[in-house]
Amino acid sequence: MMNRQGRPSTPGEASSGAVDTVLGHRGLDHEEALIFEQGQAGRSGVDLPEVPAVTSRLGNLARKGPIGLPGLSEPQVVRHYVRLSRRNYAIDMGLYPLGSCTMKHNPRLNEKLARLPGFADLHPLAPLSTTEGAVEVMGVLAHWLKVLTGMPAVALTPKAGAHGELCGIMAIRAAHVARGEGETRKRILVPESAHGTNPATAAYCGFTVDPVPATAEGRVDLAALKAKLGPDVAAIMLTNPNTCGLFERDIREIAEAVHGVGGYFYCDGANFNAIVGRVRPGDLGVDAMHINLHKTFSTPHGGGGPGAGPVVLSAALAPFAPLPWVVEKDGRFALVEDDKGQSFGRMAAFNGQMGMFSRALAYMMSHGADGLAQAASDAVLSANYIQARLSDVMTAAFDGPCMHEALFDDRFLKDTGVTTLDFAKAMIDEGYHPMTMYFPLVVHGAMLIEPTESESKESLDEFIAVMRRLAEAARAGEVDRFTGAPHYAPRRRLDETLAARKPVLRWTPPAPAQAAE
Ligand SMILES: *Cc1c(COP(=O)(O)O)cnc(C)c1O
Repeated sequence: MMNRQGRPSTPGEASSGAVDTVLGHRGLDHEEALIFEQGQAGRSGVDLPEVPAVTSRLGNLARKGPIGLPGLSEPQVVRHYVRLSRRNYAIDMGLYPLGSCTMKHNPRLNEKLARLPGFADLHPLAPLSTTEGAVEVMGVLAHWLKVLTGMPAVALTPKAGAHGELCGIMAIRAAHVARGEGETRKRILVPESAHGTNPATAAYCGFTVDPVPATAEGRVDLAALKAKLGPDVAAIMLTNPNTCGLFERDIREIAEAVHGVGGYFYCDGANFNAIVGRVRPGDLGVDAMHINLHKTFSTPHGGGGPGAGPVVLSAALAPFAPLPWVVEKDGRFALVEDDKGQSFGRMAAFNGQMGMFSRALAYMMSHGADGLAQAASDAVLSANYIQARLSDVMTAAFDGPCMHEALFDDRFLKDTGVTTLDFAKAMIDEGYHPMTMYFPLVVHGAMLIEPTESESKESLDEFIAVMRRLAEAARAGEVDRFTGAPHYAPRRRLDETLAARKPVLRWTPPAPAQAAE
């Protein structure tokens, strides 16, 4: 069955109590056609002067047909995009429990400072004489990152965590090449619980990925790791706290063992929010670590804006850092853009995500070192509160306290006919963006919940109440509530695999006969 807009209705729609509205709208949420379908030739929101007559010099490169922009009035366009924006869930709308993502509040102070014209209107090619203040901001940010991590150098340009991994592994590769071991060190050890970007980065840089198993308590199996060490090991990529939400207690021994065979220690720092201000990765033997400014340091995340993934480097890797970097002399700041030494090159055009640098530094300075440590403690407390309050109705994947995220498996759903996916969809009906599902892969039907420090106790309690009720409903056999979910979202169950594998990215106009109507 299709409704007016060709929106397929899903089985179970009636059982949700929803009526068939005249135009397919739901409450104040409008169902509407694509902007191209709404557009009409000749309609326009602006009144432009006639184009003067010119002799085209495009020759046969000239466009044959019209450009195909939809014609709409200004209010039509405004309404369309405002309606679309209301369908986009955001951290400003409610709790966003995605584990391993650190979706924390984006303080408005950051936004205010980043919008200062001296930062926001800067051109990357403007001469240093007019931009030294911005370079100083980069220098101060670099200083904070180095102090917080206990590392001597930082590359600011990588534009996301995954890009930072690429930067770190390229620095490691450059260091091995400089030692004449570029051809022999071909293996990178990656724990099974790692984020997919870790093995992807290693493979992209030409290394073989060798998985390291986890112990039954969710940490790296130290004995198995040691057994894999040898002269062909280039590095280990390890996340700490790991993606099971646990601190790797053996981390110093792991670092020593890897260094013992001449390898480097890449730490995936995506989970730095749990330890910032309390543990310095440099003290743990880390050689390179990316820091997701859009996670730990509160800059907007996902659809909210670009990321930034600066990489801190140990003394051994610092000489290979990518250009440019900031230097300070007698209180004056400058960028080193050219290097006669061992830098492996550049990660990006220009100098990195300036808008994220200013936001992250605003966050750091407004919190202060003590405030950052407090944020880490509160993030860990929030996660443990959730784990403790849900452990009688859901099944925690591992015993004992967690770090900044609480990890559950699907044992509590056994024989209920409800899967982790169904459970997540039912959360949408309850007003929550689902947690991270089926990751890490080492936990069956994983549900990874990271509340962060920015939720109040009241908001955590509401979330807990919903999760408790859903867990009880699953046990009580209320299966439709889950398998039919989401009942209240503008779209029901989508074929997400098909959408990912065969995305339809282009609107095709209807056949000419219809268009001529
Ligand atoms: C988010 C994340 C990454 C990748 O970071 P992006 O900024 O999304 O590229 C890598 N590892 C872990 C553990 C993460 O959570």
